[in-house]
Amino acid sequence: MDAVYLHGPEDLRVDAVDPRPVSAGAVAVDVEYTGICGSDLHEYEIGPVPIRAEDTDHSIPESAWDEHLPKPMGHEVAGTVSETGDDVVDVEVGDRVTLNMVSTCRDCRYCAVGKYHLCERGDGGAVSSRGFADRIVVPESMVVPVPEDVSLRHAALAEPLGVSLRGVRRSGLETGDRVAVFGAGPIGLGVVAGAVAAGAREVYVSEPRAARREAAEALGADVVFDPADVDVVERLRNEVDRVEVSFECAGTETTLTDALRSTAYGETVVVLSVFDEEVALHPNDIMQAERELVGSFGFRGGPLASRSEFQTALEFVADGRIEPEPMITDTVPLADVESAFEDLRDPESEQIKVLVEP
Ligand SMILES: [Zn+2]
Ligand SMILES: [Zn+2]
Repeated sequence: MDAVYLHGPEDLRVDAVDPRPVSAGAVAVDVEYTGICGSDLHEYEIGPVPIRAEDTDHSIPESAWDEHLPKPMGHEVAGTVSETGDDVVDVEVGDRVTLNMVSTCRDCRYCAVGKYHLCERGDGGAVSSRGFADRIVVPESMVVPVPEDVSLRHAALAEPLGVSLRGVRRSGLETGDRVAVFGAGPIGLGVVAGAVAAGAREVYVSEPRAARREAAEALGADVVFDPADVDVVERLRNEVDRVEVSFECAGTETTLTDALRSTAYGETVVVLSVFDEEVALHPNDIMQAERELVGSFGFRGGPLASRSEFQTALEFVADGRIEPEPMITDTVPLADVESAFEDLRDPESEQIKVLVEP
């Protein structure tokens, strides 16, 4: 079978590999769609990302490349079950499924209480994923059934939408709040839709790319700004006396500070981005205004996880509260994955979410 592997910086190849056997407790899925994630692009540029790098130093160890290469990729998967191993109970051949790829140790203090996304030894689903392939073999525990009303095309977005919905929950957004979203990539766009679903009064979006501003409007944004033309902080301060909730979804120093200063005193800023490097921020923007700066990582999901955002994402797509189609700008075969990565990295690109269709 064919599978895409990362062989080095900016070096993706389609390799012919032997299909993995389906052992006890495992399930094989014929992949229909796998989304290209922002985190995939990070890895393509700078190497396998140990997202939960220990404590203070978030730099990538020199050895990371050697240890993990060649590395399979792709974690936003939807497809059909084609084979089940012994001892598989709840999954049958022919089931339409998506995958919760967060790998967990089931042993640390976080796993013990169902906070798998915070697992000390987990990887946020990024490291062991192999979804850019004809077929994928996973433990039954990763399989999530797709509701009848959800297409596999949209089911592939359950993972990024789950990330966005977790951010909305972490914000404590209340009905009637005004919201600002900085960065309208797939995560920011999911936040727009999630904030609307949660009862936001108005949603403002700052995003330099025109195609993403249009998608933001399609997903429910009331006002979109091009930060090249508008001083967004000034506009939000003058027009609405700042917003109650801001979301940082771009991963830059400017957007982090803009998000803080656009937020009313005593209110909340949620950081959803993976930052490439350390950035400066003025702690007085937090201290003097009593703002809350909140992190949001991945999503809840899995056997002990209460109120799974992964599941909620699928249900909101099923009942139409989130209509993800405007986020999907292209589908490509395995052979074109590398050119799709290159396109997505181009700041002028019109692409938002590209699905790989093996
Ligand atoms: Zn993802
Ligand atoms: Zn754990």
